[in-house]
Amino acid sequence: MKLMFLGAPGAGKGTQAERISEKYGIPSISTGAILREAMAQGSELGKKAKSFVDAGTLVPDDVVIGIIKERLAGDDCKKGFILDGFPRTVPQAEALDAMGITMDLVVSIEVDDDHIVRRMSGRRLCSKCGASYHIVNVPPKVEGVCDKCGAPLMLRADDKPEVVRDRLATYHKQTEPLKDFYAAKGLLVLINGHDEIENITANICSELDKIRG
Ligand code: AMP
Repeated sequence: MKLMFLGAPGAGKGTQAERISEKYGIPSISTGAILREAMAQGSELGKKAKSFVDAGTLVPDDVVIGIIKERLAGDDCKKGFILDGFPRTVPQAEALDAMGITMDLVVSIEVDDDHIVRRMSGRRLCSKCGASYHIVNVPPKVEGVCDKCGAPLMLRADDKPEVVRDRLATYHKQTEPLKDFYAAKGLLVLINGHDEIENITANICSELDKIRG
């Protein structure tokens, strides 16, 4: 099963990708998480990505395409995978086609912009394993501590309101055209991202059931 999530930053792609990944036992691949890890380690990739990520703009296509090529070659991707945050531009989507990868379903999680900006201020991220939380919607069992690995939770630097607005502008200009790209292939479904987290997961699963027969 090859599933892709589209949607604005903060629409809930990461949360849903983690839930679907657990349910179906396929890896969730987040280019954002891979870039954040590289930045934390101070690797060459991290140094290359930092100025773009900090400004809320997109890392150059060739860099993220290289990351995805390498990641999708992993053995754990043989049964399927979930793409969270890739592709984000039409050339990235074309690169996926050129790799011979055809998706089974593309889910766009739809959330209004003003709701996104409010939602982002409550978002928290594990400093070690990258798991995502929200102080109201997805609280950890112990405040400020990751349920999965016990590391402290942090705010993402690019979740500040001024950067979020830039990321939303980038999304509308560069990523939203992908909805037409995948609608033309008959792969796109729109899911209401204002709903409860459990209902969104259930709606995605029922779309997956349709294509799995
Ligand atoms: P995310 O965690 O998906 O919100 O990504 C965080 C940041 O990483 C984005 O604002 C971009 O700067 C960068 N990034 C993640 N995925 C991509 C991608 N597919 N193409 C370009 N930049 C990306």
